Amino acid sequence: MTNIKIQNSKSKFEFYIKKFKIENSHFPRFNEECGVFGISGSEDAAPLTALGLHALQHRGQEGCGIVSYDGNSYHSERKFGLVGDNFTKKQSLKKLVGNIAIGHNRYSTTGGETIRNIQPFYADLYGGAIAIAHNGNLTNALLLRETMVREGAIFQTTSDTETIVQLVAKSKKRHIEDKIIDSLMQIQGGYALTIIANGTLIGARDPLGIRPLVIGKFEDAYILASETCALDIIGATFVREVENGEVVIIREGKIKTRRPFPNNNKRPCVFEYIYFSRPDSILNGKTAYEYRKNLGTYLAKESDINPDVVVPVPDSGVPAALGFSQETNIPFELGLIRNHYVGRTFIEPTQQIRSLGVKLKLNPNISSIKNKIVVLVDDSLVRGTTSFKIIKMLYDFGAKEVHMRIASPEIKFPDFYGVDTPTQEELLAANKSLDEMCEYIGAKSLKFLSIDNLYKALGHSKRNENNPQFTDHYFTGEYPIKPIDYLNDNKIKKLSSLSLASNH
Ligand code: AMP
Repeated sequence: MTNIKIQNSKSKFEFYIKKFKIENSHFPRFNEECGVFGISGSEDAAPLTALGLHALQHRGQEGCGIVSYDGNSYHSERKFGLVGDNFTKKQSLKKLVGNIAIGHNRYSTTGGETIRNIQPFYADLYGGAIAIAHNGNLTNALLLRETMVREGAIFQTTSDTETIVQLVAKSKKRHIEDKIIDSLMQIQGGYALTIIANGTLIGARDPLGIRPLVIGKFEDAYILASETCALDIIGATFVREVENGEVVIIREGKIKTRRPFPNNNKRPCVFEYIYFSRPDSILNGKTAYEYRKNLGTYLAKESDINPDVVVPVPDSGVPAALGFSQETNIPFELGLIRNHYVGRTFIEPTQQIRSLGVKLKLNPNISSIKNKIVVLVDDSLVRGTTSFKIIKMLYDFGAKEVHMRIASPEIKFPDFYGVDTPTQEELLAANKSLDEMCEYIGAKSLKFLSIDNLYKALGHSKRNENNPQFTDHYFTGEYPIKPIDYLNDNKIKKLSSLSLASNH
């Protein structure tokens, strides 16, 4: 039985958030927006994993790793930085022999970066070894960790993924598959996992399918990947999504499925559709690009202005701006030019450097905006830092008016399931009215897509209020899984801060 509680009460949620606000400043967060990959049945398992991770690079740029298995031994390489800088040379892949491999791209906002936190994790356990890669965020990892540390467990990393490994190690079940499932029954949150255990590739997706995971086929090999773009890069065919709550077990060219959780309706993270997945990745039958264009179309339907040009914030606002332009017949112009050589290294998680990052990354294209009424389209507004800088730049370069249109509703609530969102204090829409936000970013006018049209653009006639089709707490405050770790009492915090010392 799953121990996940579906929590729909707004008042309860407000209580959580309030608590979170109070406690967050000194409470470590494990947020990771990562990419995972796995392959079984190819002599080139490691190089194909490197290519898959390269396609998933947008999901995490801080570190990457591959673990392979050759039938006897595991081989592991974990590095800081990009896949292309670490895993493209023959030399770097040479030691990763075997026809099973898993890989991971890491994104983390927590401080204290250490190589120990880079995945996949590998551990020797009673009954065999396990390697694991995880995209997502567990909402009860600290609570579980506390219990295990009290019982004598020694944690090596500050990552929630290690909690899963420790639970597997502790499980009294006999077979490794059952030990893994035993562990999954205890964790909560959003997760997509690729695992090698006992010569088997295993994939698992959380009971609501918050984080994505797909299955592909390449010659005789089966693949697991966060997104379909990781299949395309190697010419693999897309088989299907791993279902919510499904555990797939791939051994000797065959797939077996286990469904340990009670049936739940799928509730994928709406932000995968809006921003996070690569535009060419297929989500529930359509590309993210198509959904995003549609978001722009609906944004245009709500529009009450008559601009000269539609300008996207590159690259995240491009599909929505195209949809907006096609719906209104107002010309689409590249009014901002992006410097593609600015890596995430510049965009360190401090407000001051983040502001600088916008200047490094974007420059107005004067020919498209001078003396024009501009509608500036972006996928989302988070802190307002990017919008403020861009709007100022557009005015500095001679735009007559700048109207900001956002192809998603107001983000008022933080995420706990694997997307890096700031605390509620930093979310602009959580703290300011529409007029105040407009003034803050310096736009002539500001509008967000309505929730109704968000759902329409994503293929639903309306939001099912009793059982929403997406995990959409960013806008609604309805958290489908209680973020237990973020509501902790002091006891847990105390022990956790001991265990997580390297985070600070
Ligand atoms: P802000 O300036 O803080 O309002 O950021 C808005 C920009 O951040 C938009 O261009 C979004 O595409 C982008 N964005 C939205 N969500 C995220 C996220 N979770 N991580 C990084 N960037 C994001």
